[in-house]
Amino acid sequence: MAHKRVGVGVLVVLGLLVSTGRNALTQVDQPGIYLDIDEIKAIANRVRGGRNLQPDTWPGGARVAVAISFDVDNDTISIARSTSPSIGAMSQGEYGARVGLRRVVDLLDRHRIPASFFIPAVSLVLRPDMVEVIEASGRHEFGVHGWIHELNSALDAETERELVVRAMNYLEAVTGRRPVGYRAPSWNFSPNTLNIIKGLGFLYDSSLMADDRPYELMQNGDATGLVELPVEWILDDAPLMNPRGDSYTSPRELLQVYIDEFDKAYEEGTIFLLTTHPHIIGHRSRIVILEELIDHIKTKDDVWFATHEQVARYVKEQAGL
Ligand SMILES: [Zn+2]
Repeated sequence: MAHKRVGVGVLVVLGLLVSTGRNALTQVDQPGIYLDIDEIKAIANRVRGGRNLQPDTWPGGARVAVAISFDVDNDTISIARSTSPSIGAMSQGEYGARVGLRRVVDLLDRHRIPASFFIPAVSLVLRPDMVEVIEASGRHEFGVHGWIHELNSALDAETERELVVRAMNYLEAVTGRRPVGYRAPSWNFSPNTLNIIKGLGFLYDSSLMADDRPYELMQNGDATGLVELPVEWILDDAPLMNPRGDSYTSPRELLQVYIDEFDKAYEEGTIFLLTTHPHIIGHRSRIVILEELIDHIKTKDDVWFATHEQVARYVKEQAGL
């Protein structure tokens, strides 16, 4: 027994040493550990997924909806986030306006597929000719993606709202139509974003990730009537296609991820929503995977290709929202 007690004592001391060492190595602020249950719930419920808006069937009896979007960031992020923007990085973004966009739109129009273009207004200020390229087919939608791809989550409410209004007004002025869809730059909400977009009367948001089916956004436990068309970094080209980044994936491997995501959406009868960027996907070695993806999707005949606006209107109506 004595031997065992000594053994346990040694283990306790060793455990303390190990845990002390670990804490010293990985000391981080963890304010959440001091919250009570009500405080935890209040934080989680500020913006949360509500009612599932997946309809029983899509228009025409289609089994799956395919909503393709393009975030036309081009060089706006470089300009917004540095007092001396990198000329090299800006030129990499400019490729989107000079080459990528046209390649993307040609592909869509050849397949007669509608898409949604979320555009920081400044992208259009710098290249107003992009409006005509996108508008030519009459199929595509323009959505808000900030004024200059500002990091909305780091702004005060008044500044954030003013920039969204400025972006909306600009898009309306150059396209002749008030946008109804919002996609937060960098896909994040500040504590004020939901109030701002609700107050401005947007039909839907497409920035959050709580589901892979459309859902209603909840605010502090209350239904908002705002449709969320969820995105995912999995279904984005930006994080994985930067050859100088730390998580590079070859376009061909990414194609398989997109195909697997589509096949599962088809099997489950839900929605496949993909986001790419003209300055990234528009390169020669990458546009081919978008072509192959569309060819793959088109092997099924019960697919509804739609803009985000069309999807949002349909699910809202079906749900009686
Ligand atoms: Zn963006």
